[in-house]
Amino acid sequence: MSSLYENISLTPHNSMGKKERAGLTLMALGLLAFLLSFITFAGPAMPFLSGIFFTVAGGVVYSRKESRWSTGSMLLIFLGLISFLFLIFRPSALSPLLISLFSFAFFVLGAAIYIFFRFRKGEAGIRNNGITFSPLTRKNGALAWVLAVVITGFYIMLYWFPEQIHGLILAVDPIYGALFGKSGLPESNGGHYNPWFLYGFLYTVAVLLMGSRFMLKYRHNRYQLLRTASVMFFQVVFAFFIPNVLAALNHQELYFHYFWPLDYDVLFPSSIDTLMSGDSLSHFFFWWTLAISFLAVPVLTYYFGKRWYCSWVCGCGGLAETAGDPFRHLSDKSLNAWQIERKLIYLVLVLITAITALLLLDRSFDLFNESTSLAFRKGYGFVIGTVFSGVIGVGFYPIMGSRVWCRFGCPQAAILGILQKYFSRFRISTNGGQCISCGNCSTYCEMGIDVKWYAQREQNIVRASCVGCGICSAVCPRGVLKLENGPLKGKTAIQINRNEVKILDEEPIG
Ligand code: SF4
Ligand code: SF4
Repeated sequence: MSSLYENISLTPHNSMGKKERAGLTLMALGLLAFLLSFITFAGPAMPFLSGIFFTVAGGVVYSRKESRWSTGSMLLIFLGLISFLFLIFRPSALSPLLISLFSFAFFVLGAAIYIFFRFRKGEAGIRNNGITFSPLTRKNGALAWVLAVVITGFYIMLYWFPEQIHGLILAVDPIYGALFGKSGLPESNGGHYNPWFLYGFLYTVAVLLMGSRFMLKYRHNRYQLLRTASVMFFQVVFAFFIPNVLAALNHQELYFHYFWPLDYDVLFPSSIDTLMSGDSLSHFFFWWTLAISFLAVPVLTYYFGKRWYCSWVCGCGGLAETAGDPFRHLSDKSLNAWQIERKLIYLVLVLITAITALLLLDRSFDLFNESTSLAFRKGYGFVIGTVFSGVIGVGFYPIMGSRVWCRFGCPQAAILGILQKYFSRFRISTNGGQCISCGNCSTYCEMGIDVKWYAQREQNIVRASCVGCGICSAVCPRGVLKLENGPLKGKTAIQINRNEVKILDEEPIG
């Protein structure tokens, strides 16, 4: 007779068999080959290729049948990352075509396979298992800091030391050549490395890859599918293809989906002169940007709130919604953060409005000398346009959430927010009786809005900062929240100050 204990294995469940050990040994050999080739690389590709061979062979031997896709995708991502290191520190190691293949192709393919298998299975919608424990997605997690340093470092290199990452620029050049029939390398570019194709390319790949991930995750929600398809479209066509085609034709790069004041220098006298002395397309662009900034923005925001731009069109919003999705819960929900947000974002708006007005006045009345007006132009461009929106805005995703720039610094968001709060029909209505106070809505609001607070009190949410992403509604298990563009009647807004809460309008819905 068999006892209960005979059926219990004393071997730990996850102990390694011979196969796994052999796989790990091969992968270790692969790593060693990479290390050797990294230290000694002087031209021939053999050590590098041996590294790839051993790592892949080790992965194949190691992987279990049910997790083969995940091991395979991780291996490809790993090989892509290793190749990126070679591109940065050993750029002359391989031919441009080979390093393009090993870095971008392996990384993108691995990430795509991982995303597909990880998100196609299971329930659609929010996946919060382990999100506050993972070192990558928890507040101040170790991996989150590593990623923040890597992204910030990359931005710093890109803006100020592009020659230090010329291996990466070299690697995308065959892609640039294939798409636009030109080379961006120094010989054909006045001796300068042009890092902006690399930047645009990586940005677009990130939006497409992570946008696909987002669509698989929220595949049950039509609103999320449509607006993600929209930001992907605007990124590919308006932010990537049109400017690059224009550049390839030796025309000024024009971004038709950015307007003043986000496109902060478009109304500076120097830019107006350049546009107005250009061809008919440049003229059209000037009138287009004026019409959108001062006519379309108020009209569209009246009908749809700021979401028509921030969550459907804008490139910064597009990256935040897609690549920033794993970090959206990190946004600070405290009252202090809200107060800093309100001061900072309007300060930036006042700053760019004042600088633009002063420069335009200077053109007519000659108020400043050349160095003062240059200081205005360059100063704003450096502090706000480069450091805040670029380096901090994206580099701090893993630390402060995905909408740091949109929430604290974007002057376009400030204008749209004022219009949304005081003149728009957009609001999020709440059916508070159904709320179970789970807090999902507040947790996943990337703009740091404490949505639950409103839901519990059955108050419509009319906040200047809300970008109308709809995630609060998508993750609510009780269908409490609804994004609406109805008439103004019945809109109830709540204003929270440090010591009081004011209800600004209590008119009931008629
Ligand atoms: S309140 Fe909802 S719709 Fe508005 S930004 Fe937050 S999650 Fe998005
Ligand atoms: S997600 Fe829905 S149920 Fe949960 S707190 Fe928010 S409104 Fe209430």
